[in-house]
Amino acid sequence: MSSEPAPNDLSSFWMPFTANQAFKKDPRMLVAAEGVHYKSQDGRDILDGTAGLWCVNAGHKNPRISEAIKAQVDELDYAPTFQFGHPKAFELANRVAGLFPDGLDHVFFTNSGSESVDTALKIALAYHRGRGQGSRTRLIGRERGYHGTGFGGISVGGIVKNRMYFGSLLSGVDHLRHTHDPERNSFTRGCPVYGGELAEDLERLVGLHDASTIAAVIVEPMAGSTGVLLPPLGYLRRLREICDRHGILLIFDEVITAFGRLGTASASKYFDVKPDIITCAKGITNGVIPMGAVVVTNNIYESFMDHADAPIEFFHGYTYSGHPIAAAAGLATLDVYREDGLFERAADLAPYFEDTVHALKGRRHIRDIRNLGLVGALELEPRPGAPGARGFETMVKAYQKGVMVRVTGDILAFSPPLIIERGQIDQMFETVAACLDDVE
Ligand code: PMP
Repeated sequence: MSSEPAPNDLSSFWMPFTANQAFKKDPRMLVAAEGVHYKSQDGRDILDGTAGLWCVNAGHKNPRISEAIKAQVDELDYAPTFQFGHPKAFELANRVAGLFPDGLDHVFFTNSGSESVDTALKIALAYHRGRGQGSRTRLIGRERGYHGTGFGGISVGGIVKNRMYFGSLLSGVDHLRHTHDPERNSFTRGCPVYGGELAEDLERLVGLHDASTIAAVIVEPMAGSTGVLLPPLGYLRRLREICDRHGILLIFDEVITAFGRLGTASASKYFDVKPDIITCAKGITNGVIPMGAVVVTNNIYESFMDHADAPIEFFHGYTYSGHPIAAAAGLATLDVYREDGLFERAADLAPYFEDTVHALKGRRHIRDIRNLGLVGALELEPRPGAPGARGFETMVKAYQKGVMVRVTGDILAFSPPLIIERGQIDQMFETVAACLDDVE
């Protein structure tokens, strides 16, 4: 760019996962935030119905988190965690491990959900190889799974566009069928009753490839980004049983579900199913500073430590793994969750949230409603010949009327900060339903 750009020139920023041209004609610009609200550039309060991107679980600008970050910047701004360390990264690892199921006590830090997923897949492959089972290289994901944007994540993920645009992806990857069954499960409150048997897809893949070739299966316990697809009753437990039977590692991608979204520290706790590896990010720092983590069983960690001859047990890491500012933000965030009882608060609010979202049944354009914890989704009837248009227009209208929702095609997703009040839950759903009355 040769000349000095005007401050309101939007042309250079290539926005991620965004209709850039539409946005730049009619920008939705956020300039401040507090609690459950954003402030728009034109001075309006916008109710944050999505906790940013499913991450600001404690609400915006929590003073304890902000103070911890400021203090850390003044104390230790950056330190590597390759061959050196700093206390807060160790402290945060202990605290994170303490929130996940017993026996998952070791934490590898990353900077995002995508990095957590690729790290988890690499841990799975290296784990088997280290135990003399190097033939276990196959990875199994699921249709309509979202595991971030790395090549590992898009390979095990089940999103058609990634397959259309980005080539053949990793080889040796198979997919379970997705569990979304509108015929049998529409308007179910909480987890669908039908579909637990779909876990048997894993047994079929074992039959096809033999267990000795399969390293791991990765699923989101609740698929968020592809439209809030809930696990049918018993599904996750059956996956666990099949994995146990065949020595396959089970990875739960909890980038959305960890840190209170379902009213528990993790979906593993909510469903009482213990995976071997958990990926997380987002809520670990309340979204304020980028950070992710991979939590593994003691068995996995110790198998790496057995390589006494190796100078480095696991050949992997990021410049910013366990970054001091992120670690300080994480510690303060976990303090806030605990001191303010936010996971319990989410659990207490969940029935009200469920009643409120399901009260929209029968409203214009809605063909399914789904919910779990403080997550809700309205699936709209697509406009004939224009899939996604109705969802997009509703999102834009809701913003104009002061509510931020997340849209995936014609599915609107809701995941507010866990500090939301009942009246604000009413406002969020009522505003969106009123928008649907206005949308063609
Ligand atoms: N996995 C899941 C389940 C996610 O929901 C997301 C993000 N929504 C990711 C991975 C990727 O996280 P990030 O955008 O931080 O890379």
